Amino acid sequence: KSKAVATPTRTREILETHGFSFKKSLGQNFLIDVNILRNIIDNAGINASAGAIEIGPGIGALTEQLAQNADKVVAFEIDQRLLPILNETLSDYDNVEVINQDILKADVKEVIKEHFQPGQPIRVVANLPYYITTPILMKLLMDRLPIDSITVMIQKEVADRMAAEPNTKSYGSLSIAVQYYTEANVSINVPKTVFMPQPNVDSSVLHLEMRSSPPVDVKDEEFFFDLVKASFGQRRKTLMNNLARHFKGKMDKEELREKLDSVDIDPKRRGESLTMQEFAKLADCLYSE
Ligand code: SAM
Repeated sequence: KSKAVATPTRTREILETHGFSFKKSLGQNFLIDVNILRNIIDNAGINASAGAIEIGPGIGALTEQLAQNADKVVAFEIDQRLLPILNETLSDYDNVEVINQDILKADVKEVIKEHFQPGQPIRVVANLPYYITTPILMKLLMDRLPIDSITVMIQKEVADRMAAEPNTKSYGSLSIAVQYYTEANVSINVPKTVFMPQPNVDSSVLHLEMRSSPPVDVKDEEFFFDLVKASFGQRRKTLMNNLARHFKGKMDKEELREKLDSVDIDPKRRGESLTMQEFAKLADCLYSE
């Protein structure tokens, strides 16, 4: 059996043989360290009964490890030039399906129905293209897919924001959006040297375990998320000032003060100090049909 794809020599060899040149615009930074890949797979909870969905297989570094450890792998790759390469690097495995499609345009629900067993645990695992990390993750979350977890290598700052707790610099509307659907944890920080070519930013592995239901129950989700965004609008301003701006013409400061008072939230606090439970309470008391 040939050596793992994720080594500097084998990767260089594959790229040279196929005359492949990296497209920066597609966020192509390939992993060249097998230990990191094993770490990601363990972290994702991949085992012989799991179905795996990969986004952006590249030349197959992670795909190969998934094929060895999961029951079945489905990988979405946008770059057509990689298909013949993947065909070669994954030729030993009959449990891998590569789909040449933009993940943002894919009907993932349908693909899951088609390729996995009913009731099979499904885990998304990827070294994501950094330029579209947030749109990809928000799509996966908001489509309410029948998946169990998402484990992704992403830019460190973005991972920190998604997993952030109240009263920290990284905490913001993205933290609430992600934690509404999942339990988020940053598991490992990864040096630039494990990629070819090396990216300009530091990376972390983020693990998202899907919740069976949101941790708060709100009357109207859209109103709740809009309120959260508005509360973080200008970080230096008080909650009152951000809300007064958001509800201008609809609710005056006096009315806002009364509502905040009724849910025991001091108008002088800043958005970054509110927990998801407090945002939910506030949203429900401000909401009117
Ligand atoms: N998984 C490989 C690895 O770890 O070595 C490659 C990771 S590389 C950071 C990101 C991959 O995502 C590239 O192969 C790129 O072509 C692919 N990609 C970029 N945008 C995509 C999109 N919208 N849909 C699917 N794949 C995409």
